[in-house]
Amino acid sequence: MNLILMGLPGAGKGTQAEQIVDAYGIPHISTGDMFRAAVEKETELGLKAKTYMDAGNLVPDEITNGIVRERLSEPDTDKGFLLDGFPRTLVQAEALEDITNDINKPIDAVIYIEVNPDILMERLTGRFICKNCGATYHKINKPTKVPGVCDRCGGTEFYQREDDKPETVANRIKVNTELTEPLLSFYRERNVLYTVNGEDDVKDVFKDVQGIIEKTN
Ligand SMILES: [Zn+2]
Repeated sequence: MNLILMGLPGAGKGTQAEQIVDAYGIPHISTGDMFRAAVEKETELGLKAKTYMDAGNLVPDEITNGIVRERLSEPDTDKGFLLDGFPRTLVQAEALEDITNDINKPIDAVIYIEVNPDILMERLTGRFICKNCGATYHKINKPTKVPGVCDRCGGTEFYQREDDKPETVANRIKVNTELTEPLLSFYRERNVLYTVNGEDDVKDVFKDVQGIIEKTN
């Protein structure tokens, strides 16, 4: 059960990752966690990575790939793993292919949660915050009970964080789409790419995900 989970920001990857890990008991391996663990354990590669991160630089591919190799070689991944946030680039995808072949844990399925960019925009730009008390709302998921009035303090002035503004979100979606497309082609060519409709309810998305996992294992 060697899986990669992919999806643009706002596609619901985090929620699906949690459910997969709960249902199948495989480790959730995200790039951030992998780096943190390697740094904490003070492995040779972890320490090297740290010097780059401390200087605010990108960690070079060969170090990242080494950390991935070490992580995937640990025994808790013998029954499977869920990779999240890696690979980000074709070079990393090729390196991952070499690694998983070497350690005999080939990728069974790459699950891509597909959501129309317009819907991602709606999801990611919906957050607004009360200027007076800091209460957080969302246009779709958590609106104020009375439009334009804060539930908590009655304030009527709201603002959006820089990260939630349409220009910022549109750019984030664009950058991620450009990174994702070549990876989808790479895995499509290898016949391991499966797409689920991430616009459905969380439960239905998970049913589709389960269907893929069961079919490929
Ligand atoms: Zn308020």
